[in-house]
Amino acid sequence: MARILLVEDDVALARGLSAALKAGGYTVDVAADGESALQMMADEPYALVTLDVGLPDMSGFDVLKRLRSRGCRVPVIMLTARDQLLDRVTGLDLGADDYLVKPFEPEELAARLRALLRRPNVDPSPVITIGKLEVDRSRCVASVDGEPIELRRREWVLLERLVVRVGKVVSKERLSAEVFGYDDMVAPNAIEVYIARLRRKLGPDGPPIRTMRGLGYVMAE
Ligand code: CA
Repeated sequence: MARILLVEDDVALARGLSAALKAGGYTVDVAADGESALQMMADEPYALVTLDVGLPDMSGFDVLKRLRSRGCRVPVIMLTARDQLLDRVTGLDLGADDYLVKPFEPEELAARLRALLRRPNVDPSPVITIGKLEVDRSRCVASVDGEPIELRRREWVLLERLVVRVGKVVSKERLSAEVFGYDDMVAPNAIEVYIARLRRKLGPDGPPIRTMRGLGYVMAE
């Protein structure tokens, strides 16, 4: 069953939501501040995170920003107060997947969770294994043969994008847009440099990334 992290400092609300979601069959953990939320997300693979905007140590947006800057794509629902209309826009800009305005019924949150978890790119078990390579998309970590590989943010994005399309050819242009964004001024061969680095980091035990001339790259199964 999908494991959910509730980031909420209102103890009563957290308890109520947690009970409702557990009754719905989810495994639920609660973090009461931003630092512990980030730590827990680094330790556990979560299928989805609900993130309160008003946290004691930092705003939910800061948590989201740090999460996304690690290259983490775990789906996030922001929980905002009624008068934080502008904040919803900020949240979506920063890469939140949905938002709910307080107060809301636990059933409404459960419905949003179900909708997000049904999305084709969301896997309730976020760990993908290809041969000796294990990629945890929720914690943004990868290992080959049990040995963690050190990846910089863009290397991680590149690996993750290839891994979710294992066996399929991905064009250079598409990868480049995903790794560098459309707006960045990027040299045309920059992606080749990153592919070479990634191959080196995966090593001989990792799955090969094949070059398909004129077409793009494919991570072999
Ligand atoms: Ca709060």
